[in-house]
Amino acid sequence: MVLGGAGFLGSHLCERLLADGAESVLAVDNLVTGSLKNLEGLQRDARFDLLQHDVCLPLVVAGPVDYVFNLASPASPKDFEVLWLEIMRVGSLGTQHALELAEVKQAVMLQASTSEIYGDPLVHPQVESYFGNVDSTGPRAIYDEAKRYGEALVQAFRRKRGVATRIVRIFNTYGPRMRLDDGRVVPELVGRALRGEPLTLYGDGSQTRSFCFVDDLIDGILKLALSTEQGPVNVGNPREQTIREFAEAVLRATGGTSGLVFRPLPPGDPKQRRPDITRARTLLGWEPKVTLEEGLPRTIEYFRGLL
Ligand code: NAD
Ligand code: UDP
Repeated sequence: MVLGGAGFLGSHLCERLLADGAESVLAVDNLVTGSLKNLEGLQRDARFDLLQHDVCLPLVVAGPVDYVFNLASPASPKDFEVLWLEIMRVGSLGTQHALELAEVKQAVMLQASTSEIYGDPLVHPQVESYFGNVDSTGPRAIYDEAKRYGEALVQAFRRKRGVATRIVRIFNTYGPRMRLDDGRVVPELVGRALRGEPLTLYGDGSQTRSFCFVDDLIDGILKLALSTEQGPVNVGNPREQTIREFAEAVLRATGGTSGLVFRPLPPGDPKQRRPDITRARTLLGWEPKVTLEEGLPRTIEYFRGLL
């Protein structure tokens, strides 16, 4: 089962599970930020099904379940503004329902956590043992604290109820099927470049991020699910760059000439982010393979098709 299966990452995970020979894959999604279009190719496969359901309501399904992947949650900073209560509810109630289902079915439950656990990090690169620097009353707390609560709940179900759990801390991931209007930097800047609009840089563009192509991320999630590792594992691409450098790469890759404009930095925007992937390398034998020079053109082609 893939909760959030109609979303960006969830739809790629469903696709990969089917390609790897899963007997059946059930996506559960209320389509708040996901889309049926993401599942177009999958709906033709008899092994695939979609249950339209809000995971904040109890989750009951017939038959055996081996894995519950919990990816259900809006994830863009733009969503933090509008879907704030939905994010806090799905991070708490939704995660509880995913864990209760895994308990009943004796399934492995994998929780999609996030680099936002580390907040505006003071330790760089971010290693899993770092407790983070999160402002619990700031604007991003809606998402960060929901995800921190989610991790705490997962570990409590593991310790108190014996549920087999995994936690993946996902760093910025990009690729086809991101929403063009979701406000995250990759669709926003690529969309602007393709429309001939200036690329918006928040602050002076010196903040850093490390971008992982979706196929690599899904590979890491599957390796973690199949392992027995119960502590959190960072999965992301350690190649770090400033947002200004990223914007310039977008202009080069699109052939865009619309230039850059500067906008105020949103409050609480982390200044730096880069995963330490030693645990993923040593415990899972995983590391990213797709460079930005390969992944960005594939993503641009997808957005060009949409436009
Ligand atoms: P997305 O918005 O494309 O996907 C989330 C999916 O969850 C959507 O299809 C949405 O409709 C569904 N959903 C939300 N609330 C639901 C509910 N109450 N009931 C049922 N379905 C619900 O986002 P994404 O980028 O694919 O992110 C997937 C997961 O990975 C999220 O948990 C997110 O926090 C995590 N994550 C993503 C990134 C990234 O860079 N993409 C980074 C860190 C963590
Ligand atoms: N950003 C930007 N211009 C945009 C959108 C985002 O400069 O049009 C910046 C944003 O301030 C942040 C970085 O890009 O520093 C990554 O933003 P995103 O929303 O993709 O992810 P997150 O902040 O959650 O890592």
